[in-house]
Amino acid sequence: MAPDSTSEVDVLIIGAGPAGMMTALWMSRLGIKTRIVDKRTDKVFSGQADGFQARTLEILDSFGIGERVWKESNHMIEVSFWNPDSNGAIKRYQRAPNNIGGLSRFTESVLHQGRMEAFFLDAIAASYPHPADPSGSPLKVERMVLPTSLDVDEAAAEDEDAYPVTVTLRHLTEEEATPTQKLSNLSDGLFRSNLADDDVGSMLAQSKGRVDVREETVRAKYVVGCDGAHSWTRKALGPKYEMEGEMTDFVWGVMDIVPITDFPDVRTRCMIHSASNGSLMIIPRENKLVRLYIQLTEVSAGGGRVDRSKITHEMIFKAAQKIISPYKLDYHYCDWWTAYQIGQRVGNHFTKCDRVFLAGDAVHTHSPKAGQGMNVSMSDAYNLGWKIGLVAKKIMPRKILSTYELERKQIANELIEFDHKFSRLFSGRPQKDILDETGVSMDDFSKAFNMSHMFTSGLGVNYSPSALVSKPPEKALLLESDKEVQNEGTPAAQSKLSAATNCKPGMRFPSYQVMEQCDARPWTLHHKMPSDGRFRLWVFGGDISQAAARERVNALGARLEKGILARAPRIELGAAANPFAGTARFRLDRPPSVVDVMLVHTAPRHEVELLRDLHEVYHPFDAKLGWDYDKVFADGESYNEGHGRAYEGYGVDAEKGALVVVRPDGYVGLVTELGEENWGEVETWFEGVLRMA
Ligand code: FAD
Repeated sequence: MAPDSTSEVDVLIIGAGPAGMMTALWMSRLGIKTRIVDKRTDKVFSGQADGFQARTLEILDSFGIGERVWKESNHMIEVSFWNPDSNGAIKRYQRAPNNIGGLSRFTESVLHQGRMEAFFLDAIAASYPHPADPSGSPLKVERMVLPTSLDVDEAAAEDEDAYPVTVTLRHLTEEEATPTQKLSNLSDGLFRSNLADDDVGSMLAQSKGRVDVREETVRAKYVVGCDGAHSWTRKALGPKYEMEGEMTDFVWGVMDIVPITDFPDVRTRCMIHSASNGSLMIIPRENKLVRLYIQLTEVSAGGGRVDRSKITHEMIFKAAQKIISPYKLDYHYCDWWTAYQIGQRVGNHFTKCDRVFLAGDAVHTHSPKAGQGMNVSMSDAYNLGWKIGLVAKKIMPRKILSTYELERKQIANELIEFDHKFSRLFSGRPQKDILDETGVSMDDFSKAFNMSHMFTSGLGVNYSPSALVSKPPEKALLLESDKEVQNEGTPAAQSKLSAATNCKPGMRFPSYQVMEQCDARPWTLHHKMPSDGRFRLWVFGGDISQAAARERVNALGARLEKGILARAPRIELGAAANPFAGTARFRLDRPPSVVDVMLVHTAPRHEVELLRDLHEVYHPFDAKLGWDYDKVFADGESYNEGHGRAYEGYGVDAEKGALVVVRPDGYVGLVTELGEENWGEVETWFEGVLRMA
């Protein structure tokens, strides 16, 4: 064995799937010293996940890659429901929108996972140079690397300068790291399926005894296990770290084909229930591809695990032909296929000592048909990444890390509840008549599907109260059932939420069009909130052409300047957030505050002079780059793109105004009234989450 070496790193990410890539992207944007390793030789080339929720596209857009996915993907606008008629033949029964209009500028879209992984790599590279990471070398995925041991020094967990997690990494040869079958090999598409066994054992066995095998020791401040459903990291944390839930008897096949068919809705998302041959879902994809999810009624799990050797792609396709008959279905080109058994499980713990975290499939697995897996996995990492990054930079206290499990375990449980309901309705046999108690009512199925849009779009996420989410105890609307959320709420914001009725603490801050004060350019506000680690304090100041309103926002500005902005930490921005970051001549004289103050007013734009009328916190000055003109916006009629009616959208009364604090991940942390008596509440909120001077 080659000699052991030891190194230190702030964050070690295990696994470079969607969750690992999202974690790595955050770390690159925050300039955190990070390594990301993956046992595989390469990224995914075809198949696997393909569905992007509207919220995921918003998140990707905040890193500058949403538009790329949006442009290349197929947008799913409509859904058709096909059910058996009285003679048992399938018939179109309903057409419905596939998304709720007006909630987001994106809709559900499909593009294969490998393409998205490529965009991630580009976005990570675009983060450099980063002044906070003087190494100057962009974060790269280290492939063919397998962890073999993990140890947490629990006694050192609360020492913020410690590296309490020790991981041994083994470097594999290409042969050892290559799975027995490749995705493009149609003779066995099952190696990425949940029917396949974990291959870590065989990889280790192959490398055992090799004389030149290289191992190294890495001491990390934080480790994030993003290593999928068979998570090695989870197992390495010990027997207490379990997946809880169940495996069902439902077995499904998946095929990505270019179909040759007379079925009329093949370019529409379709839910087809046949009378007795099972169900089929059609997902029209990019490049003429169509994904078929096919129920395999003839494969029985018999209460245990399906024998994968019984499944072939010919058999899956025959099942699809039966379900869709009397329409004809054939193909010349198959891009990918696989099969899986539906299981629904959630990890009982998402973290050990807030030093090792689990994200993505490592802590939740479920049926892929609702297109949630990749999205929820990326959202876990999106929730976690900035928290680890800002704690590692000593901008936030360590206690904030406990909100990861609080927030994401709740979402994983909601996901499993949704999947449980949806997959049983979809896999069930259609009801013959109302006396058929074991059949599924097709009315119930389409109703459940249409009701679930808030959840499946990712826009319904509503985090519980914590230091990061100030709100009273509440009932969360989950799917169609009104479910009590067990929380105590936070005392602060009991009565002030009505200041901005559509900004809900715990939910994502919506986006409406406003006009830039300095140049009249219309922007949707999400474009002014890149994922760069900063909190945003949105000041809805009303008609500041009126003296009283103007004096109010300027008095607030003076208080912020001496209070929060003087005491909050500053944050260095890399090339993606500040194109001048790498050019010494243009570099900001001082890094900006981690609290970004933004103003939206309702005054006629021409009656406001930015530099003359407004306090400097709304146009901060930098000795090298001059005034910042990008913080004040008017809610008014634009020259060419209409009126965004942002105050109406956010639910703010222009007379009263409002203050809204938005976290670095775009979720609302605090809503309160604009009056002076509420400014202390904003200060208290920031004192709870930032390490103030
Ligand atoms: P993964 O994507 O599994 O990534 C884990 C990464 O960790 C991999 O790169 C792996 O090589 C690496 N790794 C694993 N073990 C180790 C180790 N010990 N050491 C180092 N590296 C390791 N989701 C959707 O949203 N829509 C769909 O249509 C859809 N279809 C699917 C079809 C199938 C057959 C499967 C299996 C899943 C599907 N999913 C779908 C789910 C989606 O692919 C996953 O939810 C998503 O990929 C999870 O992301 P992740 O990053 O958590 O894990």
